Amino acid sequence: MLYTSTRGNYGPLPAAGAIKLGIAPDGGLFVPTDRVMLSVEDIQAMTHMSYQQRAANILGPYLADFTPNEIKRSVDNAYDAGSFDHPDVAPLVDLDAGLSVLELWHGPTCAFKDMALQILPHLLVKSMEKTDEDAGILILVATSGDTGKAALEGFKDVPRTAIMVFYPEKGVSQVQKMQMVTQEGGNVGVYAVRGNFDDTQSGVKAIFGDADMQHAAAERGYKFSSANSINWGRLVPQIVYYFSAYADLLARKRVQPGEAVNFVVPTGNFGNILAGFYAKQMGLPVHRLVCAANENNVLTDFIATGTYDRNRDFKRTISPSMDILISSNLERLLYELTGHDAARVRQWMADLMAKGRYTVDDETREQVQSLFWSEYADDTATMSSIKDTHRRYGYVVDTHTAVGLYVYHRYRQSTGDERPTVVLSTASPFKFNASVARALLGEEQTSGRDEFELLQMLSDFSGLPVPPGLSGLSRRPVRHTTVVDREQMPQAVLNFVAQNQQRRN
Ligand SMILES: *Cc1c(COP(=O)(O)O)cnc(C)c1O
Repeated sequence: MLYTSTRGNYGPLPAAGAIKLGIAPDGGLFVPTDRVMLSVEDIQAMTHMSYQQRAANILGPYLADFTPNEIKRSVDNAYDAGSFDHPDVAPLVDLDAGLSVLELWHGPTCAFKDMALQILPHLLVKSMEKTDEDAGILILVATSGDTGKAALEGFKDVPRTAIMVFYPEKGVSQVQKMQMVTQEGGNVGVYAVRGNFDDTQSGVKAIFGDADMQHAAAERGYKFSSANSINWGRLVPQIVYYFSAYADLLARKRVQPGEAVNFVVPTGNFGNILAGFYAKQMGLPVHRLVCAANENNVLTDFIATGTYDRNRDFKRTISPSMDILISSNLERLLYELTGHDAARVRQWMADLMAKGRYTVDDETREQVQSLFWSEYADDTATMSSIKDTHRRYGYVVDTHTAVGLYVYHRYRQSTGDERPTVVLSTASPFKFNASVARALLGEEQTSGRDEFELLQMLSDFSGLPVPPGLSGLSRRPVRHTTVVDREQMPQAVLNFVAQNQQRRN
């Protein structure tokens, strides 16, 4: 299997090269050149497999330049009992006859990013070996909360890598901040940036694009790389859990072999739902992929009209991991739907850069509409959805999953489609406990309490234990206290690289 750029001017190259580079040098994203196809029998055979075996099965054909043993070791190390607190890794919970929830948050940081970021470092280190890379890799991350912590946990103490995470000083929750500033590991750096997430993100992007910075890092033995969902090595592990959920439905006889199901996906950067699209292309019986958005509903509008328009106000919501106006991974979908027409993709992305909007042709729009359906929930609807889900099913969800469940009910009402449906649950309710506790316990009980008190209150109310990654968090020693201005970020990177060089020598 080889990979090529969506912009058509780089590749083809094997998986190891694509994973090491992260983003294609022509500005595009790496995509597989061939399709991987699974038969109904192949999928049925997965019913008796562990999550780890299912993962090795799906990853194998995409990582054709890795040996079966390398893949097995990566999978076993990533999804082990020390990191995931559930034996199924991604357990499927049935709420009623036609509705199940796929819990993707049993990893160390309590959000679905762990599903990919626990394995990406293993794949990256192998990729460095395979491409005879001499330099160390410095992972640079700008985060609004979830990605930063998941990347830190994935890369901590991984040989020949170092990781620096920048987060907006006032833009993350109390829990998210404590998760990051207490991070352990000898190769990690965590920095608060004075400003908002856009300042933080543009600071990191500027460093990636700065030839002098690349040169200065290279002199100290480091190359930059990315751990966000533009890296194919982050996308491919996400395909696994769509198959895994379906295999569980088959094993429980909730579907017949070949019977189509829907998946509802709380969406921001379009990485998670894109993995569902690849699963469908591979032969998984999927009827619709339902894209659940919050008030930053740029994707809902795109799916309805064929016009992607980011010219709108950015809204802060209670589902902050979906507060995104540029969904990078949509570029991969457009490349696939146009039959790998890089020229058309280049034009749309140029329009997005220049005008902040583009409109796809009618044929592409119709394809999008036959695959996807979308609706959005505002914060009021999200809060009601948390309450309603608890009342109907006795099940506690976080704010992002609540968006998914709201949109699921809207989908059923609007279309009358009663096929079995899986809603992807992207975070533990304890991770966004302030909103969840307010929805379930009421304003009066919760006002004036900090997030750590609320963790315990939510645990008492729900009878669920506080997950290991969050319990005792408020008592862990703070290890990272540096605050920088956006202009000081490059200097912080150079200092960090120099420190790591010394440590390596
Ligand atoms: C990242 C994230 C999302 C959005 O996923 P995308 O792949 O960016 O679409 C949704 N929910 C949570 C909790 C997340 O951390």
